[in-house]
Amino acid sequence: MKCYVVTGSASGMGRAVTEKLRAQGHTVIGVDLVDAEVLADLSTPDGRHRAIADVLAAAGGRLDGAVLAAGLGPTPGKERLRLIAEVNYLGVVELLEGWRPALAAADEAKVVVFSSNSTTTVPAVPSRTLAAFAERDIDKVCRSVRIFGKQAAPIVYAGSKLAVSHWVRRAAVSREWAGTGIRLNALAPGAILTPLLEKQLATPTEAKAIRSFPVPIGGFGDAGHLADWVLFMLSDSSRFLCGSVLFVDGGSDAYFRAKDW
Ligand code: NAD
Repeated sequence: MKCYVVTGSASGMGRAVTEKLRAQGHTVIGVDLVDAEVLADLSTPDGRHRAIADVLAAAGGRLDGAVLAAGLGPTPGKERLRLIAEVNYLGVVELLEGWRPALAAADEAKVVVFSSNSTTTVPAVPSRTLAAFAERDIDKVCRSVRIFGKQAAPIVYAGSKLAVSHWVRRAAVSREWAGTGIRLNALAPGAILTPLLEKQLATPTEAKAIRSFPVPIGGFGDAGHLADWVLFMLSDSSRFLCGSVLFVDGGSDAYFRAKDW
């Protein structure tokens, strides 16, 4: 049996992954704000340091895999911009850099990062925002989207997921990751019915935008089904998967950019 870490293990897709891995007999070290083995606020440097250290201690220096599902949605609000950027970007890349030696110590460890189909379906994320993410300068990220006013949250959200996907693709093929046997990939869901989406649906303007968004097969995705994709990406069958961003979104990504391939 294997040892995994799952961030965002208390809710939604992270919770579904945690339950399915435990049902298979694996050990899961959950990381979340509440109801987890490691309690840590990933929006702060201290919280991220604690998450890195406590997970390494709990795992005994060896991790067979990691699932980075903690994240915040594009809910508007000036204070939210920083939180979205910190949790969705730094809460992934800093943790993975901290856990990398433990992942390298395992035999072909697998990592799944939650991206989003907003990476390809939200237009107009400025290149200066992506540059600020790459510099890990969150003040600069927030300044870079001021011009968008009330629309800034969806832009920071899409920017955080684009930046984390770029990081996954660059790191995945490097000596430190592929070169030490770690398989690093991302999953890009569309609208999945979890507490995150339910919160957005409870706000009339957000609900209108979500419900009018093109989803060729219609409706919303199921958290348990997305968890099944994660389990497959953690399995031995995925040993040849490296640096991929897998879209599971009812067809929206294909709808918007069928000609890009
Ligand atoms: P969710 O809100 O149900 O769960 C997210 C978890 O992250 C929660 O348990 C929450 O406590 C945790 N979290 C939030 N802020 C945190 C912080 N500061 N420190 C530690 N933990 C924190 O969300 P979900 O829908 O299951 O989303 C999982 C991932 O999938 C997220 O990264 C999200 O951006 C992404 N995603 C979701 C959707 C969707 O429609 N639900 C679509 C695309 C991508």
